Amino acid sequence: MQANMILAIDQGTTSTRAIAFEVTPQGAFSAVAVSQIELAQHFPQSGWVEHDAAEIWRATLQTCREVVRKAGGVDRFAAVGITNQRETSVLWDATTGEPLHRAIVWQDRRTADVTTRLAAEGHEAAVQAATGLILDPYFSASKYAWLLDAVPGARERAARGEVKLGTIDAWLIWKLTGGASHVTDATNASRTSLMDLSTLQWREDLCDLFNVPMKALPDIRGCADHLGDCDASLFGRALPIHGAAGDQQAALVGHGALKAGDAKITYGTGAFLVANVGEAPVASTSRLLGTLGYAADGHVAYALEGSIFSAGSAIQWLRDGLKVISDSRQSEAMAQTLKDNGGVYLVPGFTGLGAPWWQPEARGTVIGLTRDSGPAHFVRAALESLAYQTRDLLDALKKDGAPSLTRLKVDGGVTANAFAMQFVADICELEVERPAFQEMTAMGAARLAAFGVGLTAELWTAPAEAPAVWRPRMGDEERARLLKGWRGAVKAAIIAAGGDEP
Ligand code: ADP
Repeated sequence: MQANMILAIDQGTTSTRAIAFEVTPQGAFSAVAVSQIELAQHFPQSGWVEHDAAEIWRATLQTCREVVRKAGGVDRFAAVGITNQRETSVLWDATTGEPLHRAIVWQDRRTADVTTRLAAEGHEAAVQAATGLILDPYFSASKYAWLLDAVPGARERAARGEVKLGTIDAWLIWKLTGGASHVTDATNASRTSLMDLSTLQWREDLCDLFNVPMKALPDIRGCADHLGDCDASLFGRALPIHGAAGDQQAALVGHGALKAGDAKITYGTGAFLVANVGEAPVASTSRLLGTLGYAADGHVAYALEGSIFSAGSAIQWLRDGLKVISDSRQSEAMAQTLKDNGGVYLVPGFTGLGAPWWQPEARGTVIGLTRDSGPAHFVRAALESLAYQTRDLLDALKKDGAPSLTRLKVDGGVTANAFAMQFVADICELEVERPAFQEMTAMGAARLAAFGVGLTAELWTAPAEAPAVWRPRMGDEERARLLKGWRGAVKAAIIAAGGDEP
């Protein structure tokens, strides 16, 4: 039997999935089996978000076993690839292999006092220069320190090598290998605030600053390296683990955004832009995040990343809050009942504004209402806001001196909306390309593992099925007028929240 399949594990914030990809000799990937289990969210206090790492492991094992069975047995598989929610932090016992505390999820703000103090002490510039990241509780370092302090005896035991720290990739690799491998991939490591973005190694000074013992951290590996072998008792064979990357970086690889100037944006609840900037890191002056795109086969690609807090969630608000639509799909036809936005702009700052504005206090704002304004104006303004927010990120990239973008590769639920995608192309002056197969995160993990294990000769080859493409067709004057209206609306949102005029 030919072992031409990859078992991709996609451990996300709300669910754990396993997907079996069949790989043809030409390098085409097709998903042949899927299994998914929802993940319980725990909110012990305001601003705290936790996952049960043991539950994550059980769901991983169960979904993997199901997919292996559905796909015809373990002998069909050549390797395992992993992609995961980033930054989420786990502390476990090296002897028993059991978590010592619930995992602290990326959204958790409990260590805000630590990063605020470090910023007040003047450490931000040095941390950013070394890691590409701003000081924020989002990243793992302050979460790791919190876990070591919260669990009695953990610090002493860490010094003796009895407890381990890691992001979800490291936790799953440890469990899959029966405790034989304590490793992480460099993209996940790039989200901890402890890794030097140039050397791809932990930094002693950063570990000291955040009070995290380096001894408890996993070894850093490339994204397509051999990361260990699965314990043979799990699936009946010691399948090698040959790929791992954080979710946004895996999507970058899945899209084939491998060269400088390639970029992808995922339009889900929020939106995540990752732009490949090439072989050297680019320091951002616009508060974009410097991060690793991927490291595979001796090739390293750096990236700049920016997030939009509210993208699809603005459409959810139209449906569940305003109730002007009953299904998100209706938004497309409704927006098109208008010939233009009628001067109405919606800034969806429901939870503040992300990059490049970084205004956590800002709130949602609508401007330009007249007696003619109706539900369709709100719908249209919400969809248009996706494009304007994307444009703001692209302008920040340009300001940071990132290579000019060639086109924008898109995925996520909102990309079903052709009106919104055409508007993104028009406002961003870029071709927008949506691949036929949408699971870019799992696809990236599968491609890394297939390449790592030698099943494919290239990390990426274009899929046979043609993507959907939207090309810019708006005139310069109209674009300039719309962007002027949008910038006025952002200014209003920031000033209304008591912020300084941007
Ligand atoms: P996530 O992974 O963040 O849960 P998804 O990629 O599944 O997000 O996308 C879901 C989002 O896409 C929802 O916020 C929903 O409002 C939005 N969405 C889905 N279909 C459409 C559509 N046709 N037009 C606009 N937005 C849509």
